[in-house]
Amino acid sequence: MNHFTTQIHHWYTKNKRDLPWRKTNDPYKIWISEIILQQTRVDQGINYYYRFTERFPTIGKLAQANEDEVLKAWQGLGYYSRARNLHFTARYIQKEMNGKFPQEYDIILKLKGIGPYTAAAVASFAFDLSHPVVDGNVYRLLSRYFGIDTPVDSTKGKKEFYKLASEIMPAKNPGLHNQAMMEFGALQCAPRPVCLKCPLVNSCFAFHHKIVDKLPVKEKKTKQRNRYFYYYLLEHDDNIYLEKRSGNDIWKNLYQFPLLETSEELKEQEILELKNIPFPESCQKNLKTITPVKKHILSHQVIFARLIHLEIEIKCNLSNNYIKIKKTNLDDYAVPRLMEILMHETKIL
Ligand code: SF4
Repeated sequence: MNHFTTQIHHWYTKNKRDLPWRKTNDPYKIWISEIILQQTRVDQGINYYYRFTERFPTIGKLAQANEDEVLKAWQGLGYYSRARNLHFTARYIQKEMNGKFPQEYDIILKLKGIGPYTAAAVASFAFDLSHPVVDGNVYRLLSRYFGIDTPVDSTKGKKEFYKLASEIMPAKNPGLHNQAMMEFGALQCAPRPVCLKCPLVNSCFAFHHKIVDKLPVKEKKTKQRNRYFYYYLLEHDDNIYLEKRSGNDIWKNLYQFPLLETSEELKEQEILELKNIPFPESCQKNLKTITPVKKHILSHQVIFARLIHLEIEIKCNLSNNYIKIKKTNLDDYAVPRLMEILMHETKIL
């Protein structure tokens, strides 16, 4: 091993965090942890990991579950297509592979929802196969230490970093090596690193050229679009109404209050006039509350949301798409985090 890898492994032994998915070589649990960690920070991910793996401890249990249960366990993590893919792939492995997680990188890579990064993580952590895991932390570490300014989000950059990561990968313990690289990038070569405490400081290109804050380079600026969501909480006695989201949009198959989406923000007066509401205008209703605008940022869109709470009369002819439920049963349904926040902040339910 060269100086770089030796130092990183040494540092890892002394500084690594005690994380539950590092104590197992069960590919199923490693797979779950990797997908969760694509959604959230490690400290928050631990709770989700325990919740998900206690609810679905094996591939078989996940395969047997219905989609609503899986989405409910995923609630709050966002990117629900990842939960649906986990579910699909668990069913596929159960049916087509006798419930046994494949042990070859190329076969793992073919599974739905598993890209090169996750395939390399599962293959190396569970089966000690020699495939580098190049996540955002590893890109940052490699670009700074070796002084590479090729954009990490370009095709050329991805190839270049992958090649370099493969070259420095030792033949022995590739799983441990990948963990060490990721952990070093996450904790030591962090976005704002304390270089003077770094064991690599004497040989680090970026430190010596004073360009630590310039690396890594990214070329693409993510375009964002604005959306305006008006949720209608319709209440009659102890009942409220939900609809299931469909189509190829965010939060597919999650439940929500009847929603009006507009391309421009509505004025207060327009909301009070209750025009274009997603239920008959003739319905007798009594306005109880309108929440202030809540800004909710996703990776490519910003949602400005309000919740409008109405009491309605029983005769309202509501769409058949709405499901009538007891208010107290709302917890049984997977809803977007945004709706949870609106309900929590306003203490409506
Ligand atoms: S010296 Fe600073 S920039 Fe270089 S590897 Fe260490 S923490 Fe990263």
